[in-house]
Amino acid sequence: MFDQDDKVLKLFQDSDALLQGHFKLTSGKHSEWYFEKIRLIEKPVVMDKIIDLLVAKIRRDIPDFDYVVSPAYGAIALGFLAALKLGKKFAFTQRVDEKMSFRLGFSGIAGTRAVIVEDILTTGGSINEVVACFREHNVKTAGIYVLVDRSGGSVLVEGNPVGSLLSLKVEAFDPDVCPFCALDMPITKPGASDKKA
Ligand SMILES: [Zn+2]
Repeated sequence: MFDQDDKVLKLFQDSDALLQGHFKLTSGKHSEWYFEKIRLIEKPVVMDKIIDLLVAKIRRDIPDFDYVVSPAYGAIALGFLAALKLGKKFAFTQRVDEKMSFRLGFSGIAGTRAVIVEDILTTGGSINEVVACFREHNVKTAGIYVLVDRSGGSVLVEGNPVGSLLSLKVEAFDPDVCPFCALDMPITKPGASDKKA
């Protein structure tokens, strides 16, 4: 189920963010894997090594851009650290009255090229909102990167694939056909996400 090399996987496991077990997802389905992103923020030393890998990928793919932009709040720490390592500027977006906008004060971003850095890709909802915000401010999307792609590469943003360090093809089971239920494994319901879809 993992395409990536062992180094990436080991770092995510060291951060205790990638949990293996028997989980009840918000969809009601059951899964063997769960990604608890808050654990990454909690362990900056491990996150630093993970961001090094992401930065190497961005540096290889995108020769020329001005900003790293992340949606608030979970990805701000990741995007800021990536911008610092890349020697670029950083900005974040946040929802104001349900609409993704730049925080007032990021005044110089219009007309620039920006790379979006997000923590997890599930349906692409937040990333699409950031791209729409870019369009409104005449910012060109130079690239889109996430640490973990939970769609296993199936979600495109504006027809473009999203770069990721770890691509998880997570199988989700209806409870009546769940192999872990069949083994009577206790189930965990992780904390509800703070993010919409
Ligand atoms: Zn189950």
